[in-house]
Amino acid sequence: GFNCGIVGLPNVGKSTIFNALTKAGAESANYPFCTIDPNKGIVPVLDDRQDFIIQYVKPKSVVRTTIEFVDIAGLVKGASKGEGLGNQFLTNIRQVDAVAHVVRCFDGGDITHVEGSVDPIRDIEIINTELLLSDMEIIDRAVERLRKSSKSGDKELIKKFELLSTLQGPVAEGKLIREIDGYEEIVDQLSEYSFITAKPVMYVMNVEEDELLEDNEHARMVREHAAKEGAVCVKICGKIEQEISELEADEAKEFLADLGLEKSGLTEMTEQGYKLLDLITFFTAGEKEVRAWTITQGTTAQKAAGKIHSDIERGFIRAETVGYGDFAEIKSLTKAKELGKMRLEGKEYIVQDGDIIYFRFNV
Ligand code: GDP
Repeated sequence: GFNCGIVGLPNVGKSTIFNALTKAGAESANYPFCTIDPNKGIVPVLDDRQDFIIQYVKPKSVVRTTIEFVDIAGLVKGASKGEGLGNQFLTNIRQVDAVAHVVRCFDGGDITHVEGSVDPIRDIEIINTELLLSDMEIIDRAVERLRKSSKSGDKELIKKFELLSTLQGPVAEGKLIREIDGYEEIVDQLSEYSFITAKPVMYVMNVEEDELLEDNEHARMVREHAAKEGAVCVKICGKIEQEISELEADEAKEFLADLGLEKSGLTEMTEQGYKLLDLITFFTAGEKEVRAWTITQGTTAQKAAGKIHSDIERGFIRAETVGYGDFAEIKSLTKAKELGKMRLEGKEYIVQDGDIIYFRFNV
């Protein structure tokens, strides 16, 4: 599966958001939620399209696709130097696919701020500096090691040495890896290092309830900062999300409408997570089950079949596909077929977001 680490300074609202995420998921989707590690939560992705399909297909069971959120607490100034439990946390961040960086944009008078005042840009820089120092240490060590070992003439080692060296300068000057031109190609070839500052980031601006509709000054500054960095932003009110997570789906919708909102901040976080990671959803739908599956954008039909079972990938014949748009109009798979809207797609077909697919395969 895919996962997203939640980072941020202490007292910015990480646990509030994490708890709401896992609770909302567990309750509204009736998902057999289990916690192996208290800091990890498997969150079912609620998808209006899936609800729409369910309404018409009326399956016996429903399976949501999921995203895993990891609460990475304990990042403070000096974490990269082992301050607090710093290094342990940095190791945890290395293992995630994307980062949700929670930033305190609420004043919350009585809630202590570890740095003494509310200043989101300074906070972002404190965390980013720790993350960057951690990457820098790894780069420096690897460069030193490779400087020696690449003398053997091994082409692969020389290549790695050169690639790491191109990162070394900018990183030493304080550039996050994702701010370096052409970093994606470089990092692709250095995947074993899992650089933290190369990971896609969403800034989660935690604001007060009455600041959800209109940005406060803090939120405006974070948006500007994120744009410069090429990161995305989501505005959320941790307190409200906590309240919503206690409600039934219908009540939650009403509550959101009263606030003038279309969807919860948590839904927005999951959606942005999908965008950040270039993920899309396809569905399988029958009387027995309507199920959502997550794949990377650009996945072929045959590879997508492998998500379900390796036998289906191996024996792939064709993918009988109804586009979501067609289903939304016709509201029936049988009728879609009659109307010629069920396409017979081959191995190389690139699955589209929302496709409803029935795979034919040889056993
Ligand atoms: P963490 O240390 O980053 O995990 O932060 P917590 O989730 O424990 O939150 C720190 C404090 O801020 C708690 O007292 C929360 O109740 C409070 N808090 C979280 N979100 C909000 C919010 O949106 N508005 C206000 N006023 N307080 C919040």
